[in-house]
Amino acid sequence: MATIGWIGLGNMGLPMTKNLITAGHSVRGYDLSESARSAAEANGVTACTTVAEAVAGADAVFGMLPNGKISKEVFCGDGGVLEFAEPTALLIDSSTIDVASAREIHEAAQQAGFAFVDAPVSGGISGAAAATLTFMLGGRPADTARAKELVEPMAGNIFDCGGPGNGQAAKIVNNMMLTVSLQGAAEGAVLADKLGLDAQTFWNVASVSSGDSWPLRTWYPVPGIVETAASNNGFEATFSAALAHKDAGLAQAAAADVGVTLPGAKVAFESLQKLMDEGYAEKDCSLIIRNIDPQAPGVPQE
Ligand code: NAD
Repeated sequence: MATIGWIGLGNMGLPMTKNLITAGHSVRGYDLSESARSAAEANGVTACTTVAEAVAGADAVFGMLPNGKISKEVFCGDGGVLEFAEPTALLIDSSTIDVASAREIHEAAQQAGFAFVDAPVSGGISGAAAATLTFMLGGRPADTARAKELVEPMAGNIFDCGGPGNGQAAKIVNNMMLTVSLQGAAEGAVLADKLGLDAQTFWNVASVSSGDSWPLRTWYPVPGIVETAASNNGFEATFSAALAHKDAGLAQAAAADVGVTLPGAKVAFESLQKLMDEGYAEKDCSLIIRNIDPQAPGVPQE
């Protein structure tokens, strides 16, 4: 069994480390937040107060952090992982970050003689708790093969997506498609209602027709149709507008980097931006239906 250093014990890091411990690994965890460290300690993590302490003697080090800037600081900055990890440790970043930052960390890690894998996940907090996350790995084949074994206790699916940064690329493209499909499902729900269709009847048609999509089946933004939808619960977040906005923004930036325009993704991004601007960052991303019809059923009224 391995000793694992873990940086970032938030909503995702907490249940993920719990599953590693259940699988018999020992985890040394660091987070800036004292309450995050205490919660992890209650799950069996050895709480550490510096990155150096968390990575000491570790066979592998994971990051589960908010964004690319922070991942770069934690891995490559002063007092960071590259400075203190054991030379043989496998370094894995499971944060969702921009492809360019992921590739910079790969480059720095390689120059410092480390094996590094980008390994973002899909499946949210519930998938983290249930150990059913989808992992998208990017790195050299020998390194992703090592990473596969380590992420297994947290995973439902594991994909080797190719070279450095390709895990992040797959994650960003997937989530970009998700936001576009969500925009379509929300517009469809409103138009169906305005044309006089019963919501359940229309959903029954679309879910077995060409209008079907993952958000239609999982997040339909009309209450009482789909059990897992946030619309049943005042749009309390299952996947917050802030996180969806972050991922949609990463796709916009990636598209600009490679010189393509994505008109549909831009509409979805702007719709999420409007929710952010109007104070709904912590509500569910499916509340974008509010931008189409502020009076839609289930939409919280001021
Ligand atoms: P979170 O904000 O709950 O956790 C991030 C943790 O990192 C916090 O506890 C914070 O204190 C800590 N942190 C920040 N800077 C730090 C630093 N310099 N050193 C040490 N700790 C630091 O976020 P989360 O929901 O756990 O998400 C983590 C990552 O996973 C993000 O990149 C997110 O996009 C991705 N993700 C989240 C979900 C989800 O549904 N929550 C799903 C898939 C992927």
